[in-house]
Amino acid sequence: MKETQVSGFQRAADDFMIKRKWYAFTCEKCQTTFYEKHLSSGSKNSCGWHGCATDDPDFRKLSKRSHPVTVTQVADLMSDFFRSRGLTLVPPRNIVNEESETDLIIAGVQMFDGVIRHNQPMLLDKMYVAQPCTRMQFQDVVGLQDGISTSFVNVCTEKINPTLDEHLELVDLWFSMLSKLGMHMKDFTVVRRTETHDWDTGPFLSLELFFLYGGLELGDASYAEIPRLSGNPVPISDIGFGLERIVWALNKTESYFDLLAPWTVRGTREMCDFCRTVALLALCGVKAGNKGAGLQFKRLCKTLSEKYYRSDLYEAVSYYYDYWQHLIEPIVSRDLVLKRVRLEVDRLVNVKISQLLKLPPPREETTDEYFDRLVYANNVSIKDLREALHLCQT
Ligand SMILES: [Zn+2]
Repeated sequence: MKETQVSGFQRAADDFMIKRKWYAFTCEKCQTTFYEKHLSSGSKNSCGWHGCATDDPDFRKLSKRSHPVTVTQVADLMSDFFRSRGLTLVPPRNIVNEESETDLIIAGVQMFDGVIRHNQPMLLDKMYVAQPCTRMQFQDVVGLQDGISTSFVNVCTEKINPTLDEHLELVDLWFSMLSKLGMHMKDFTVVRRTETHDWDTGPFLSLELFFLYGGLELGDASYAEIPRLSGNPVPISDIGFGLERIVWALNKTESYFDLLAPWTVRGTREMCDFCRTVALLALCGVKAGNKGAGLQFKRLCKTLSEKYYRSDLYEAVSYYYDYWQHLIEPIVSRDLVLKRVRLEVDRLVNVKISQLLKLPPPREETTDEYFDRLVYANNVSIKDLREALHLCQT
């Protein structure tokens, strides 16, 4: 069954792309099929994806818009575009994922978790969602590698029970969308893959197209029949892009973080990235905890406390609160978000100081509150506290 499905998928993708005047090539390095718009130039022997990538994507050299755009402007343009093409706009889900094995939402397609895992009724509309997501596996590389963040917006179209043709029509809609934003199709490479996945409901085969713009991966389109815990497998079309990556590709700034970092905040890329993700988690109601989303929050705060205590952490968190609230309805106020981040960052500092000076253990309190208690109730030396605090500053 698998072999025929693979070749069927591949043929359908070939027909679709060739009809739209893309040429098919085979990568000399990895043997993957990829498509480009022109036959000329000597760059056609490598797909340029993952292991076949050149060191630095050259998308910055491609033709540029006359004015840079903001993430919010592009988000609005995209939702207007898809609404005008008859798609239903769906509000994003809370970042905490209650439905499946991931603690936090990592992709827009998780809107189908209920259908796949719990046999919930299906909404058959073609849908568009701009879903804030986290990718905690990037924590260690954020400061080292450009174009990566631990949180981003997955802009997606999702359709349940489509035919393969309907899926490919949605791919076509994305081509129109990207052209409308000012990207030329001649600057894209589309890499085709068929891959087996398992979302804990059994293995399934997926037809995947990856979209590279001047070497920078912007998103992908998948078509698959997903096995369900009960009931028949359900076909889905899942096409998702990184919103911030699209905006980077449009603006062509030197760094991805030129787009994301607050202008006036002192701090590294890692610090800003962690504040951004912490702000998203906290405004979705996440508090420090010992498992799941709460543990992720705690881990990020630990790094902020150990490496960036006394940097412009709270200015950054507040800045990102504004960023996210354009995209997802906060369920926690800005004040409470700042308080929860401060309590967690300060908690670690308080513990360190209490151990250093053999002081009464801290409660759930900020460093200011802890010091007030130590000085006025316990008569601890102000000088000792200041010196200990200095050791926690970076
Ligand atoms: Zn390759």
